[in-house]
Amino acid sequence: MKCANCEKELTTQMEVEHSSWLSEYYCSSKCATDRYFSYMESTPVDFENLPSGVEVVGYKLVAAQQSEQAEEVEIDPVAQALRNLGDAIAPDRR
Ligand SMILES: [Zn+2]
Repeated sequence: MKCANCEKELTTQMEVEHSSWLSEYYCSSKCATDRYFSYMESTPVDFENLPSGVEVVGYKLVAAQQSEQAEEVEIDPVAQALRNLGDAIAPDRR
């Protein structure tokens, strides 16, 4: 029998993993994990190019339809610091 991910011959010297869902065997938990991630089409999220239905509010990822109800919008600390600095330098300009 071979690992369903890397095709290595399976032996009792390996930490063989079995998926009941896929009815497959793997030579290691790493191969199992790689196979599961690819089976589920799982990828890291690119925050500059979000999947539909998701948006960023402050630092939080929110479902697009919930964004208007998002309770507290976290303020970007850098923007806040710049605003405070502006107030300190020219308090009348606001
Ligand atoms: Zn393998």
